[in-house]
Amino acid sequence: MTVANKIREAMERASWIRRMFEDGARMKQELGEDKVFDFSLGNPCLDPPAAYLEALREELREPRPARYAYMPNAGYPETRAAVAATLHEKRGTPFETQHIVMTCGAAGGLNVVLKTLLNPGDEVLVLAPFFPEYLFYVANHGGVTRIVETKQDFSLSLDGIEQAISAQTRAILVNSPNNPTGRMYDESSLVQLGELLERAGKRHGTDIYLISDEPYGELVFDGAELPNLFSCYTRTILVNSYSKSLSIAGDRLGYIAVHPEGEDPGTLVDGMVFCNRTLGFVNAPATPQQVIRRTSGIHVETGEYEKRRDLLCQGLQEAGYLFTNPEGAFYLFPQSPVPEEIPFVQALLEEGVLVVPGTGFGRSGYFRIAYCVEEKIIENALPVFDRVLRRHRTA
Ligand code: PLP
Repeated sequence: MTVANKIREAMERASWIRRMFEDGARMKQELGEDKVFDFSLGNPCLDPPAAYLEALREELREPRPARYAYMPNAGYPETRAAVAATLHEKRGTPFETQHIVMTCGAAGGLNVVLKTLLNPGDEVLVLAPFFPEYLFYVANHGGVTRIVETKQDFSLSLDGIEQAISAQTRAILVNSPNNPTGRMYDESSLVQLGELLERAGKRHGTDIYLISDEPYGELVFDGAELPNLFSCYTRTILVNSYSKSLSIAGDRLGYIAVHPEGEDPGTLVDGMVFCNRTLGFVNAPATPQQVIRRTSGIHVETGEYEKRRDLLCQGLQEAGYLFTNPEGAFYLFPQSPVPEEIPFVQALLEEGVLVVPGTGFGRSGYFRIAYCVEEKIIENALPVFDRVLRRHRTA
């Protein structure tokens, strides 16, 4: 035996991701890079903001003793203070340094939060369709995932959530704007969600945490504002990341913010700092933290992704695809014209268009298009989307 049984099983379950990569790489070799339209990965196509790069250069020019030394496991106090001040200003919730833990992206942050909260067998509600890694993160820390379907338009099903809550429910994971749907949950349904969690916790005599995974929180379109979950529920924990907001996914920086008015935020943060250390992250990367300290609050030009959304949605609508218009992030989750989407995804692939089957996100009959690509790729792919759909309709 090489790898542990549970890892082998998990790898087999996730093998569709590997197949996508392999197929994409093979097609690029066979057809040439310019004939393959790769919408499979949520890798930001924009450069980091000029102000971020300038602050990075400045940071490296300045002498800084122990620049790369270990630091407190929660991150640099000055960076945590800058993040708290920006969050306070944006959301009106009185965050301070001690409510913030700097992490290795949202992925690191989610693992820290789940490790901190979960006792063996505790349940975590995950809303489908979902970011596939959630299932592994919950399992990493002895939790059990309970999947709750969202509605047809991917909005929250409060009834479904209420029915899924039991005495074992420890947390609900919410991701808005959403990967893979681009859906942003509206304020009224989030207020109702907060009330529902409060009621359910009282009924079962438990504390249910609301974990808000918001790596796309700055990518909100049409002048809309992301509702503030902290004003809906005090047991809210925000997990955020600069991967998409600053296009620095490879530099692995994010943070956790706990509600200052929640129950015992001090012990909660102490637990997270311990878990950040013992999961082996130790601390978030040093240099991006120094840059964030200087530039907290800036982000990429959201309008660039909005332009791509409009281009893609208009083209696909004209071709006859059915979808819910994304309100943020950089994903579109259209319906497949046939109930089982795999053959349709395969047909797109054969014509050089790479998208990801909805099954991997817990919703078959759909597929995900990550439109964080050059506009030219969208323009050149639209005739292929059109052709493949027409062929399926006449078949
Ligand atoms: N959560 C969601 C919904 C994501 O889509 C991603 C990345 O694509 C992550 C978390 C992890 O992001 P990070 O790079 O910040 O770890």
